Order: sequence, then structure tokens, then C-alpha cells
Amino acid sequence: MNLIRLLAMLFLLWMLVRLIRRWLDGRRARLAQQARAEAEQARQVPEMVRCQQCGIHVPMAEAVTDGAGRHFCSPAHREAHGGGRE
Ligand SMILES: [Zn+2]
Repeated sequence: MNLIRLLAMLFLLWMLVRLIRRWLDGRRARLAQQARAEAEQARQVPEMVRCQQCGIHVPMAEAVTDGAGRHFCSPAHREAHGGGRE
């Protein structure tokens, strides 16, 4: 009788350990997923460049570049700064 009770206790303990382990795994997976999502979001922030004429920051994709590789917020500011003709 004592042996059966001991086996039942061991079984319950084993089930409990399994449940806790599964819960921890799920939590870890959620945290990893969250970290991945944040990394993805950080990567989507566009690189900002500074206009050499007025100093405003614009996304690289919207910036205008002159022949020397300098960035401007608009063609007008590129012209005002020398227009890359130098
Ligand atoms: Zn500008």
C-alpha cells in the first residue's frame, strides 16, 4: 500500500514537473518571439541623414545626394549648397 502511494506521488510529481517545464518553455518562446519582433521593428526604422544645407534630418530613402555623396532634404537645398558642380 505504501509503495502504491509512493508511486502515485512520484507520478504526480512527474506530471507537475512536466507542466512547469512546458509553461517555462512557452514563456521562453514568447520572450524570444517578442525579442525577434522588436529587432524586426528596429531594423525597419529608416536610416536618417542630415541635410548639409539646413541641418534637418531626413530618411535616407527621401534624401537627395550630390556628386560628393553629401545628403540634402531637397534638390533646392542641393542647388543652394553648390549643386555638386564643384
Ligand atoms: Zn535642407
